[in-house]
Amino acid sequence: MKNAIEIRRHFASDNYAGICPEAWAALAEANQGHAVSYGDDPWTARAADLIREVFETNCDVFFAFNGTAANSLALASLCHSYHSILCHEIAHVETDECGAPEFFSHGTKVLQVPGANGKVDPAGIERMVKKRSDIHYPKPRAVSITQATEVGTTYSVEEVKAVWAKTKSLGLKLHMDGARFANAVASLGVKPKEITWQAGVDVLSFGGTKNGTHVGDAVVFFNRDLAGEFDYRCKQAGQLCSKMRFLSAPWVGMLQDGAWLRNAARANAMARRLHDQLEAIPEVKILFATQANAVFADLPPHLIVALRQAGWKFYTFIGQGGCRLMCAWDTREEDVDRFVADLKRLLIEAPRDKPLGPVDHRKLT
Ligand SMILES: *Cc1c(COP(=O)(O)O)cnc(C)c1O
Repeated sequence: MKNAIEIRRHFASDNYAGICPEAWAALAEANQGHAVSYGDDPWTARAADLIREVFETNCDVFFAFNGTAANSLALASLCHSYHSILCHEIAHVETDECGAPEFFSHGTKVLQVPGANGKVDPAGIERMVKKRSDIHYPKPRAVSITQATEVGTTYSVEEVKAVWAKTKSLGLKLHMDGARFANAVASLGVKPKEITWQAGVDVLSFGGTKNGTHVGDAVVFFNRDLAGEFDYRCKQAGQLCSKMRFLSAPWVGMLQDGAWLRNAARANAMARRLHDQLEAIPEVKILFATQANAVFADLPPHLIVALRQAGWKFYTFIGQGGCRLMCAWDTREEDVDRFVADLKRLLIEAPRDKPLGPVDHRKLT
């Protein structure tokens, strides 16, 4: 049995990682006796207070099961069904939520805005909004940006503010998909408030899962007027956990002594280590600046096949192509070094002439 346990850390996703010790300890502590259900328990109150402390403001906090729900319900709360949401063309809300934002908003259309490095171009927002003003076009109502982005870059404070300036002038609300918000904060070295409410963010999906909890992402309304009846929205969508303490307690564990930022900094540092080693290999081309916990790289096709045959798991369909190598809170230096050692060895040893055939990347990962 012991031998069957795979202890290798992969680079497929930060959600391959388990639960971090701080979150696990809080779960165990919360698992004593009875507590009031549906969020009226001390753990949930404490978690929400800690989030208010982190952001240094009196925001409204809700917990949903995952990021798709957090994003979709947050966006739905900003829009009517005849509105539209503008986001980057590779944004998770557009490409990886199976239409959940449209579903939970009863038809609000997601419109794609281009931009370099996975970031929405403020001029693109204006173009998209001003393109049409007639009744036949879904009325733009909100912009969603992802921090850190889907390609492992971050928006600087100035860049978030530039998006805000556009949204404000065009009468749009601003949502931030922060599935990797912690990685962005750790990387930018800013206070959480500087890239959220002080930069115009109305509502944040604050990710915990990829950073070390088992389940449960937070929806944080800085613009509290928008939070009205959000609890009903969560309940109707099946997102009100009856044993809420088990969604919120891990947040207490993560936030109370800074584990959330330590975890993120560690993942970022491992991505930096991986980046630096890969950059030195001529056959490898780094595709995006490594500003959070992901490295995107072009690898020769024979090498991708060989690495996977050697048991390494990673995605090749996320973002704008290339291989996505994602580090987690528990990625170790030796995991990075072992991966790079295999990569260097296979670069030489692996057969180059084997026909690849059609590759289903999702099945391979
Ligand atoms: C992982 C992720 C989410 C949330 O995904 P779930 O699987 O629904 O938890 C949201 N946005 C981004 C950018 C993500 O990477």
